[in-house]
Amino acid sequence: MLRGPFIPRSWMGACEDYTQADWVLVGLPYDGTTSFRPGTRFGPAAIRDASWGLETYSPLQHAELSGVNYFDAGELEFPCGNRDAILTMIRENARDVLAANKRWLGLGGEHLVTFPVIEAYVEKYPDLAVLHFDAHADLRDDYLGEKLSHATVLRRVTELIGPERLVQIGIRSGPKEEFEWMRHNGTLLETKADIARGLQRLSGRPVFLTIDLDVLDPSILCGTGTPEPGGMSFSTFIEWLLPFQGLNFVGADVVELSPHYDPSGVSNVVAAKVVREVILLGTPASLIDVPQAAMASGSALR
Ligand code: MN
Ligand code: MN
Repeated sequence: MLRGPFIPRSWMGACEDYTQADWVLVGLPYDGTTSFRPGTRFGPAAIRDASWGLETYSPLQHAELSGVNYFDAGELEFPCGNRDAILTMIRENARDVLAANKRWLGLGGEHLVTFPVIEAYVEKYPDLAVLHFDAHADLRDDYLGEKLSHATVLRRVTELIGPERLVQIGIRSGPKEEFEWMRHNGTLLETKADIARGLQRLSGRPVFLTIDLDVLDPSILCGTGTPEPGGMSFSTFIEWLLPFQGLNFVGADVVELSPHYDPSGVSNVVAAKVVREVILLGTPASLIDVPQAAMASGSALR
């Protein structure tokens, strides 16, 4: 035997028992419909590696990740190039996670990987609402004739949940028609004052949170396929995210990291930190397995 210790190649701090897990992390290394620069198939592995540099405690949410039960399932192995078979695989695996009463946390991959997950979710939660962070609306009806693309994914989602159950944040690029659609349907929150309106849409419903990392500015996250100047700093992103704390988050995903466009590796660290904050945001305090009194003394930190 080697004496180690070894770092397992799974997300930092993940629990080893699937049956005990509240969240299931699933890597989705697919980038088949990427419209500009491909490479998000390498995202999940890069996020996992970067996670080992993070602290498990989030001062932003005063919450400790080591108290959350999350299981890292690894990466689905896709039949390359067969989009429809890949979407079916994702949908069936999401159904399995939901049947076990767990929450899905997808690590993209491109944004199309969200659609089959939402298909599975609406079977279980017919009143599902979606909170969407992105630089792009992803609301095209088709992209170069394709109905299923990372540029159409939210349009397909609204066909399942209705536009009145969608809330969008950070959108800053797209054709005029997409912006007219968002204004007509009231999906886009443009200023912080709009957050109350977003909360109204989402409160009392099961909510799926989908984060396209290009919502962040390319100056802090250039490792993505369609970088869009004028985005959020990390702090601004957190300011937009935390007001939604306390909603009933039933699943989430973080997509569009394309690690090879950022030789510094900073994008991977940013992405891993986003994932940490998403897990903590989506876990009710009652499920975080650290007694408050013990936490104050630090003795319960595992
Ligand atoms: Mn985007
Ligand atoms: Mn997107």
